[in-house]
This record gives sequence, structure tokens and C-alpha cells, in this order.
Amino acid sequence: MVDGHQPNQPFVLFLFSDTGGGHRTAAEAIDRALRRQPDGTRVRTDVVDAFAACGVFPLREGIKSYGALLKVQPSPYPALYHLSNGRTRARLVTELGKPFIRGNFRQLVERLDPSLVVSVHPLLNELARDSIDATGTRAKLITVITDLVTIHHAWTSGSVADEYVVPSAEAVRVCTSRGIPADRVHNLGLPIRDGFSPPSDRPEAKRAAGLDPSRRTLLVMAGGEGGGRMRGILRQIAGSVRALKLQLVAICGRNDTLRARLEELAPRFGSGAQVMGFVDNVADYMRAADVLLSKAGPGTIMEAAACGLPIIVCDYISGQEAGNLGYVEARGAGVVALEARDVSATLRRMFGADQSVLQEYRRSALESARPHAADDIAAFLMSMLPTPVVARATAPTS
Ligand code: UDP
Repeated sequence: MVDGHQPNQPFVLFLFSDTGGGHRTAAEAIDRALRRQPDGTRVRTDVVDAFAACGVFPLREGIKSYGALLKVQPSPYPALYHLSNGRTRARLVTELGKPFIRGNFRQLVERLDPSLVVSVHPLLNELARDSIDATGTRAKLITVITDLVTIHHAWTSGSVADEYVVPSAEAVRVCTSRGIPADRVHNLGLPIRDGFSPPSDRPEAKRAAGLDPSRRTLLVMAGGEGGGRMRGILRQIAGSVRALKLQLVAICGRNDTLRARLEELAPRFGSGAQVMGFVDNVADYMRAADVLLSKAGPGTIMEAAACGLPIIVCDYISGQEAGNLGYVEARGAGVVALEARDVSATLRRMFGADQSVLQEYRRSALESARPHAADDIAAFLMSMLPTPVVARATAPTS
């Protein structure tokens, strides 16, 4: 954790929580993009998992249980989501959590004295606002919403952020319909990390990822937690994968049980199936793959789009990812197939004799991509730094 930065040195504090994989990757993507900005290297940053760093029992443990809640089937998480999703209910939930984090969090803000606070998590906005106000720091609060369409009320509760960065036109509509003035809502895209781009030579990308360059490849993902119904679906589509002679690569994220079970299933997918846990080089696999089979995680959807990789959405987290199904279909970036038989039919169509089918999905996926979102958000953040601070920081030294 960065501490003791120079007075007048711009300092951006990113707040996230490791619930799923998307919040961390969004924060890290913007953080890296800030360094690419003119004078960005002069900006100090810190990316803090706020609940892990400042929370105490039982809040910290409650937040940690997110992954476990998604891994059991049927998952109790959607019920929690829906029960807390209302203007007043979201506020209530945030208020209930505050006593178990507020003190440590205020101390953090006081100590770091940021110029900007950037929250990429729905449950951290009100807390950040409280702490900024209580400590008297002049930091602006920016909320970067990392859900594409279905926006939980906790994101917008109290309209506490000075500015809202959102990933889609749909998200703009949700925010303004909740009373946030349109000039405080900025549609800059969902920030994704570097490296997600279409391969110039797919066989070469396959080779680089350790795959057979001559085989058509189906990449399977289930978010950072590896939650959902993926195992059941894969079991049912194994025959189609084998019949189409696809090379299957499954990334299970932080779900060791899923990984172990898919390893057992691997021989059913034909030769060369690979099953992995959490990997840091998702981009390498997306650039190598021909089709992605995934749950409807927003980060995964936008990363695949940036690679021109068509997605078959076979699962989603009820509530927060529901709108992402329509998002993918409306843009032609892939297909929603929630039943195994529809997944199999889609695979047969995409990998059929008519290659124009896959090409058309690839083109639409790329068209829907916003690969520069992290840079655009970073530029926006630079513009939000207090002018005297930026001016002093960028003044010639001699
Ligand atoms: N991810 C990763 N390694 C893995 C699995 C996932 O880096 O082994 C990343 C993935 O590339 C994406 C994020 O985790 O950036 C998942 O975010 P998404 O919004 O799709 O779903 P979430 O996990 O937040 O539900």
C-alpha cells in the first residue's frame, strides 16, 4: 500500500473488492491506463481491497463468502441480490455494514489523503462519501459502474458520487432514471486490461498459448469464481464437442472443485482438453480461441468482444447479469443458449460448413468492443484532478 506521498502530488485511491473477478480487473486496468496518460507517471495510485484491508468481523467474512455463495447450486446469492435491490433497501444494507468498516476506512482515507477516490464496487460508494466528508479531504468521488445493464441500487444509492462512469447507453438510462443528472453520467465503456485484441494470426496465437494450432478451439469460462452451472452444461455437450473435434480449454477461476470435476470429465471431450484454475493470461486464451462459452460476466463479455471472439452465453448470475443476455444479443456479439441442447445446436452452427456464420459473429463482436475504455476513463480521471495539483505536478522542474 502506498503511503506518505509528496504534498501536492496527485494521488488516486482505487477501491474494489474481490467479489468475482471483474472489480479487481477493472481497477487494475484503469490504474495501468493512468500511467499511459501524459504526465500519468507523476500520479501516485493505490488499489485497495477495502473490505479486506479495513473490514472487521462479520462484514469482512460476509463479503468473503460471495464466492462460496455462487459455487453452491442452487445459489442463495440471487435472493440476497433481489432482497437488497431497492432504493431504500440498498441504503439500509450499506448502513448495516458501516459499523464494521467505517473507523478503519476513515483512517485509511485520512492517512492517504487522496486527490481522487475511484470506487469500482457497489458497496463502497456511500462509505467513501462518508469518509471523504468526515475527514474534510477535498477528494472527488468517482464511481465506475462495472455492470453493463442491470445496475443494483447500491451503485447509485444516494447519488453520492460526484461523477458516474458507466459502460453502456443502457446504464446511462438506468442512472438518469434514478435521478442522477445526465451531466454527471459518462458513458466511457467497461475498463478491460491490456492485451485483449484480435489476433493477426490465430494459429500462431494458439501455438503461443500452448494449444494445437490446427484445431478449432472452444474456450470455457465461468468468471473469477468459477461459479454457476458450467459443469452440468459441459457434461451434456461433451458429445458435440467430441463430434466437432473441438479442442476444449476450460478456465475454472478460483473454483478448485469445478477444476477437479472437469479434469475428471476431460476424456469425454476428446483429445487435448485442458482444464485450468485461475490464470493471469486470459487474453492469450481469448486471442487463440474460436468461440467462448461462458456465463454472462461483464468483464468477460467485453474482453471477448475486444478480441473479436464470439460468445455463447450459457449461464448468468440472476439479477446482476440478467441484462447482459440482451446486451450480447442486441449487438450480435454472440448467442444466448441457456439449455445444453441449445449450446450444442449453436456449436454445430458456428463450427458448421458455412464459415460466414462465425465470421459474422466475429465482426459484430469487434464492432461492439470498447477496447480503449480504460484509457478513456484514465483521461477522464486526469481531467478531474484538482487543477492546482496537476499544474504543480506537471510544472517544469528547472
Ligand atoms: N479472470 C482471470 N483469470 C481467471 C478467470 C477470470 O483473470 O482465471 C478474469 C476475467 O478475465 C475477467 C474477470 O476475471 O476480467 C471476471 O469478470 P466478470 O465481470 O466476467 O465476472 P465476475 O467474476 O466478476 O463475476
